[in-house]
Amino acid sequence: EVSRTEELQTSRMLLPVTELEQEIVETVLLNPITVICGETGSGKTTQLPQFLFERAFGTKGSLNPGIVAITQPRRVAAVSMANRVGAELGVGSPKVAYKIRYDGNTSPETAIKFMTDGVLLRELANDFLLSKYSVVIVDEAHERSVNTDILIGVLSRVVTLRNNRWKENLQSTSPLRLVIMSATLRVSDFTENKTLFQQQPPVVNVAARQHPVTIHFAKKTSNDYLDEAMAKTIKIHKKLPPGGILVFLTGQAEIESVVKKLNQRFGAKDHLKSQKPKARESKANSNAANGDIEIEEVDLGDTIPPTPELDEDLKEVDSEDSGDESGFEEATIDENSSPMHVLPLYSLLPSDKQLQVFEPAPEGARLVVVATNVAETSLTIPGIRYVIDSGRAKERSYNPQNGMQSFNVSWISKASAAQRAGRAGRTGPGHTYRLYSSAVFENHFEHFAKPEILRMPIEGVVLQMKSMNLDVVNNFPFPTPPNAVGLSMAEKMLSNLGALSNTALTHSQGKSQITELGRSMSLFPVAPRFAKMLVTGFQHGCLPYIIAIVSALSVGDPFIHEEALKNSLNDDDSEDARQAIRKAYFKSQQKFASLGDHTSDLFKVLSAVGAYEYAGGGESFCRANFLRLKAMEEIHKLRAQISYLIQSTYPSINAHFVPKLSPPSETQLKVIRQLITAGFIEQVAVRKDLAEENENAGKKFQSCRGIAYKAIGIEEDVFIHPSSTLFSGEPPGYITFTEVVSTSQPYLKGLTVIDVS
Ligand code: ADP
Ligand code: MG
Repeated sequence: EVSRTEELQTSRMLLPVTELEQEIVETVLLNPITVICGETGSGKTTQLPQFLFERAFGTKGSLNPGIVAITQPRRVAAVSMANRVGAELGVGSPKVAYKIRYDGNTSPETAIKFMTDGVLLRELANDFLLSKYSVVIVDEAHERSVNTDILIGVLSRVVTLRNNRWKENLQSTSPLRLVIMSATLRVSDFTENKTLFQQQPPVVNVAARQHPVTIHFAKKTSNDYLDEAMAKTIKIHKKLPPGGILVFLTGQAEIESVVKKLNQRFGAKDHLKSQKPKARESKANSNAANGDIEIEEVDLGDTIPPTPELDEDLKEVDSEDSGDESGFEEATIDENSSPMHVLPLYSLLPSDKQLQVFEPAPEGARLVVVATNVAETSLTIPGIRYVIDSGRAKERSYNPQNGMQSFNVSWISKASAAQRAGRAGRTGPGHTYRLYSSAVFENHFEHFAKPEILRMPIEGVVLQMKSMNLDVVNNFPFPTPPNAVGLSMAEKMLSNLGALSNTALTHSQGKSQITELGRSMSLFPVAPRFAKMLVTGFQHGCLPYIIAIVSALSVGDPFIHEEALKNSLNDDDSEDARQAIRKAYFKSQQKFASLGDHTSDLFKVLSAVGAYEYAGGGESFCRANFLRLKAMEEIHKLRAQISYLIQSTYPSINAHFVPKLSPPSETQLKVIRQLITAGFIEQVAVRKDLAEENENAGKKFQSCRGIAYKAIGIEEDVFIHPSSTLFSGEPPGYITFTEVVSTSQPYLKGLTVIDVS
């Protein structure tokens, strides 16, 4: 029996899902799989578990004694929703509990369990039948995170297995039910996918009920969305009636800088002092040791463009105020002087600080929450009336050329923009200010975001699945399946790298098992090839060098090449001057290539990185040494990020980022060469005369010009690219390459001589 306060009872009655309680419960009871669509705020996350709980789901001795599980893509949602539902039911933990990585408050008493989808995937690895549960609610399915997609795929099978067992009376427990919840109506990838669900699951649509939200587009779209977001916040605060402001930006660094500036100027000073952040740090945020890295834990590439001082911003805004005035004409107030209560909200923020956004702002202060996507659908922040939408988000993307995953700021989808806008209409009529024009919205925003699984290197996904003990990758019922040929090639590649147990028979059937090495590799958000180099790079103090090489390979060639150099010489340069430049060029090339004595293009890059850092970086060094400044700066940044990631994954290993690199010792060079060979094991080329044992076999050559090589998987002869440091020496027998470029003939680049001694 549940007793709720009268106030709570009333507000529950107003939620759109409550009207459909009967229909929802019956559908779930009568069907193994149910899909529920309802706009953000309609009550799905908070009410569904309660509906089922009140029908004795999760109650010992009932027909469905197993726990009610609700999965979330984000940890903050799992924690805050467990708190909220516990409070609504008036029971709290451990009856309603949460479990996220490294943290949780579940107990044998738990009836409703909120968890991240990553946690449930790991539980599946140990108990494929999920015998503890009677129903799994997969929430926020519209976000299409890789974990959610994989979870739905696995659960489609688990549900069938559990139901068969139940029918055959093999298990004394209940069947398992699956509920998929989405904030958008686009659920056809789930409902119409026959591989996934043979029988189309019923869809319950919850009507939207919310207050009108007026949407204001910007007249023009500026790249400086941080400044614009800040200016708009200030203007709303000064001129518009009370109501919280929710600002959508893309990442931690941005958010912290905006919060700081707004607080400095508009924060309630005394209040801030008394509210020092608590020293206690949530366990959940300590580090990522021993676990898989969830997307939200990685914040690569978050750089803050330099912003002028706030006062200058204000002047600018005021003077060019021709801007977008809509929304300000009604009920503007004369210069509001009350303080702002500014709070950040992003995934990596410690839980106790995240939860502050749910607490009422101090008397008289205006709540301003500066958030990432976290606030887009999963969380409801009370009292928000104004939304400022930068239109951007940090998204995982993948470059098939270099195999590097990155998190880039890009435009959101129209569906996301609608979700963000809807955040202004929860408590009353609201306004949404989009910091982009309607033309940009129409022409550059996709209708829906691409599922994350299509934005990742597939060998990374396969490795991730194998690390969760999901073995039959080829027949896996993905909601949106990646290319099948790509999948089996990925398996082959992973076997070659030693990440999967290697028998030809098993991997053609998608049944190869992950190895210990593979498990460690799965922790890194870089291509498996690079992950392997990093994991094995712990030996002999080689890690900083491997990090530098992986960073350089990911960024791309930092050298200015001879062709480009020729083009840059001016016609009116005197012949002497040209000679001098050419001489300097060859001298610097020789200097870098002397590391490892012209045997590796990767050593040459390593040497350039070392020299650049030793000189303290800078444009003049790059000019003097024919390096691209931007590439060098990016390599520097990436080194710092990868070091940070390794440090937080393996706290016992000293991977603190030290920009300066001392030159590697002979032993270290040897190890690095082996690591490169291991990382590029299927990108090996052999000199043709040696491969075919033809008449030239063993002959000495002056240079690599015209010397043919054979590479695995490439039909034609391949050649060493003239830009390689190996080119002018005697052609080596065995090399690894990072790249094949086809011009008049296929050329290999990024070469390293394999040590066959
Ligand atoms: P949905 O999952 O459909 O987006 P929710 O169940 O999360 O909706 O929220 C429904 C409503 O419950 C919200 O609109 C809000 O009014 C209320 N609510 C949810 N969480 C909280 C909270 N932490 N504090 C106050 N009200 C909340
Ligand atoms: Mg929800």
